[in-house]
Amino acid sequence: MRGPLLLGALASLASCTALPSPRNSDGTHAQVIILGGGIAGISLARSLITEHNITDILLVEARDELGGRAHTETLYSNATGQSVTVEKGCNWIQGPGKEPILELAKKWGLKTAPQNYSDVSWFQGLGIEADGARGHFLDDAEQEEFMAGYDNFLENAPGYSTWRQNNSLVDLSVRVATSIMDWIPVNPLQLAYEYWNIDYTFAQPPEISSFENAFAQEAGIAEEQDDFVVDQRGYKYLFVQEARELFGQELDDPRLRLSTTVKTIDWSAAESGGDIVVHTDCGSFSAPHVVSTFSVGVLQHQDVHFTPRLPDWKKEAIFTFGMATYQKIFLLFDEMFWGDEQYVVYADPDQRGRYAVWQNINAPGFFPQNTTNNIIMVTATDTFARRNEELSDDEIQGEAFAVLQEMYGADIPQPADILVPRWTLDPLYRGSYSNWPLGALDQHHANLGQPLGGGSSWLHFTGEAMSADSFGYVQGAWDEGINTAGVIAECLSGKCPAAEAFEALTTCAQTGTALARRGPATRRGHGRRARGVRR
Ligand SMILES: Cc1cc2nc3c(=O)[nH]c(=O)nc-3n(C[C@H](O)[C@H](O)[C@H](O)COP(=O)(O)OP(=O)(O)OC[C@H]3O[C@@H](n4cnc5c(N)ncnc54)[C@H](O)[C@@H]3O)c2cc1C
Repeated sequence: MRGPLLLGALASLASCTALPSPRNSDGTHAQVIILGGGIAGISLARSLITEHNITDILLVEARDELGGRAHTETLYSNATGQSVTVEKGCNWIQGPGKEPILELAKKWGLKTAPQNYSDVSWFQGLGIEADGARGHFLDDAEQEEFMAGYDNFLENAPGYSTWRQNNSLVDLSVRVATSIMDWIPVNPLQLAYEYWNIDYTFAQPPEISSFENAFAQEAGIAEEQDDFVVDQRGYKYLFVQEARELFGQELDDPRLRLSTTVKTIDWSAAESGGDIVVHTDCGSFSAPHVVSTFSVGVLQHQDVHFTPRLPDWKKEAIFTFGMATYQKIFLLFDEMFWGDEQYVVYADPDQRGRYAVWQNINAPGFFPQNTTNNIIMVTATDTFARRNEELSDDEIQGEAFAVLQEMYGADIPQPADILVPRWTLDPLYRGSYSNWPLGALDQHHANLGQPLGGGSSWLHFTGEAMSADSFGYVQGAWDEGINTAGVIAECLSGKCPAAEAFEALTTCAQTGTALARRGPATRRGHGRRARGVRR
């Protein structure tokens, strides 16, 4: 039972905010309508208003709060009456181009702790059949044995990838690349080590992730420090505070339409310069510039309908990219029975990635120790995470607790509370973040972010997935909001740069075709920076 959640549930039943906008008599028309109040939506609104002086906007968000995948939840103990806030979504400041987020963290005094991935213990488990028997924690010599060779691969991966690209060789899956580079995991410990280094970052297995686009460049900056947000105000605080600077402390500006769910986007008139109409459960809104910030998962599930249907090249792009599932399961205990290390990795002999990565949220420097709020978080990904989403909290708790008992003994106390996020079942997200799969070309990625329309009326697509530099990261969303604001500002000043899409991708050399004589520029194709390992 999580007491404070009840308030959230009641609040989300609140009806649409249907106040008239001061700029329009009935508040249903604007120059720009932003769909989604996550990080990209907030950054776009901020950039339009403060950098381009475009104030005639509406921001439409289905939930009753801003932040999107920057989302906190509360764990609560009946026994102690204590509660604690945890990050259901993004948790680390990490990855390429994270500097703007570090600046925001500094500006708003966000509390973080440095993550040390070397501070990890390894456990050889007995798996689901353990039946009371226990595996063992590995000593240094045992660890070195199964890790042998992988660090070599990690170090050489960026160079090998660059060499392949310079020689116009095709992209590989991460699985094929590791095999060519002679790291072939066979036993449960090697498979757990691979999971820790690959799936725990991309939330998809090495058979799916692209070596060139998703992995090799990440490996290049794997040593950079990641900061784990431990602030009880939440990661979202950064973005909500930025929004407050635009929409007031109470976020009661009529341009903000919370609790308003988009159902259909009618862009039928856009190519002839007519307004785009957005139909919601709280009425219809129109604008010459409408921006979707919805996740690739939402676009894939067709939770929002487009009239007319999206062109084939756009659908090909949307369905080519991956929407991964990264599930952080939090278990709250009234007392701490585990050690001080930041991580424990459990190697299951039967199922790779089954309750594998356990993180100590009360490690020194993280959440306070010697309190009744002690949290251990286990991460599940991909098919195992999606299977978990179908189970009840009690079933997950039973399974996870059995693994903890194997590691720490049968006498450990029962959890006081559990949080099991269900990102993929949620129609507002349909997954956790995008991943670049083997087979997705740069042109697919360019098409993903290309706008639709013509002349002075455009339906734009932005959000984390549209970032070639840092898709899947907070800064990807933040940067893309700013980029899209720049494109809209140019268009509104009558200088839309040319838009182009790759309408038919063939195995031959590709040339873009013009979508319209004047429109937002393609902003893809610049060199992709190395990405950091996500944890
Ligand atoms: C579990 C998890 C862990 C992560 N970990 C990290 C991390 O540690 N570090 C990191 O950098 N990144 C991490 N990320 C990724 C990061 O959170 C995202 O890249 C970023 O938050 C995406 O922001 P966005 O604005 O592009 O999309 P979103 O946050 O998805 O914003 C879209 C908004 O649209 C709204 N919406 C959807 N459908 C509708 C509709 N029909 N009508 C109206 N509104 C609608 C949604 O409610 C949402 O607010 C993680 C994500 C998850 C889920």
